[in-house]
Amino acid sequence: MLPIVYDYTLEDWQQWVKAQGEPAFRAGQIFDWLYVKRAMSFEEMTNLPKSLRAKLQEQFRFVALEELARQESKDGTVKFLFGLSDGNAIETVIMKHNYGNSVCVTTQVGCRVGCTFCASTLGGLKRDLAPGEIVAQVVKAQKALDASGQRISSIVVMGIGEPFENYDATMKFLRIVNHDKGLNIGQRHITVSTSGIVPNIYRFADENTQINLAISIHAPNDELRSKLMPVNRRFPFADLIQACKYYVEKTGRRLTFEYALIGGKNDRVEHAEELAKVLSENLPLPLVHVNLIPVNFVMERNYTRTPRDEIFEFQRTLQKYNVNVTIRREQGSDIAAACGQLRAKHMDAKAR
Ligand code: SF4
Repeated sequence: MLPIVYDYTLEDWQQWVKAQGEPAFRAGQIFDWLYVKRAMSFEEMTNLPKSLRAKLQEQFRFVALEELARQESKDGTVKFLFGLSDGNAIETVIMKHNYGNSVCVTTQVGCRVGCTFCASTLGGLKRDLAPGEIVAQVVKAQKALDASGQRISSIVVMGIGEPFENYDATMKFLRIVNHDKGLNIGQRHITVSTSGIVPNIYRFADENTQINLAISIHAPNDELRSKLMPVNRRFPFADLIQACKYYVEKTGRRLTFEYALIGGKNDRVEHAEELAKVLSENLPLPLVHVNLIPVNFVMERNYTRTPRDEIFEFQRTLQKYNVNVTIRREQGSDIAAACGQLRAKHMDAKAR
């Protein structure tokens, strides 16, 4: 299959135009058409010679993210179900915050990591996304906002899939969306979340970027974490904590720990105390931030939500130990915005 136009960094385009015998500035023009003017076809690129447009047409394709469904929440959250050219479907979500719009992108079709509270993993992993298929989600989301003059100002790589299992594509995606001649989304406004693929936490620490990292920890010890997240059997808790330590020492950056509270499983005061102890014994607390996520009901798993007062008690317990902690604001609850739910519904309908 032909490469996708969004697969290329500006440097890739520079090499490509050089190979076509074209002047270097053409690369900048192509990049500008893709990310600033947000053209959706080569014909629109009217300041390029016809012959060059023909070459582009022959050698590249625009990724067709077909909008299969769009759900809009009262709080402004917009969730898209996009169809890919091979018939698979992925989700992308725009969230509105008081500091701007963020987009949550998908990096894989399905996921093999198997977190027990997650609908995205129920059908396993179908395939990795190409870098351009991840970039295209941001372009599509930005196009949806263009009419109202709004901008995507931040990105969270927390949609379907484990980005560190599709590491190279994810890193290329990040370079493309961050480029100041393109979408220009600042590194400090991008967060990548991993379930704990330990070798790639080390790799990411060594990348020397300002991009934020979040670790889905969800349990304070090995035994419980293995029950909730099978990935913990591949990369045990102690190894994960060591990798986090390396990341913080190497980068000096704050590390976020995502903790999904699941009713009766990992939400007791003892769990909060154990978590506070592990974090404070291994990491400098000013560089630690815990984000509590009251889990969405997953029918297939029969998980229930932690009652409100217990969520606050969990938070207070962490605070008692000087751990920075917030509770994630719920968004899009009226449209079932939990990751993977819209896609799961779509797969069900297809199977019937
Ligand atoms: S939470 Fe993320 S890593 Fe875990 S199964 Fe779901 S998509 Fe995969």
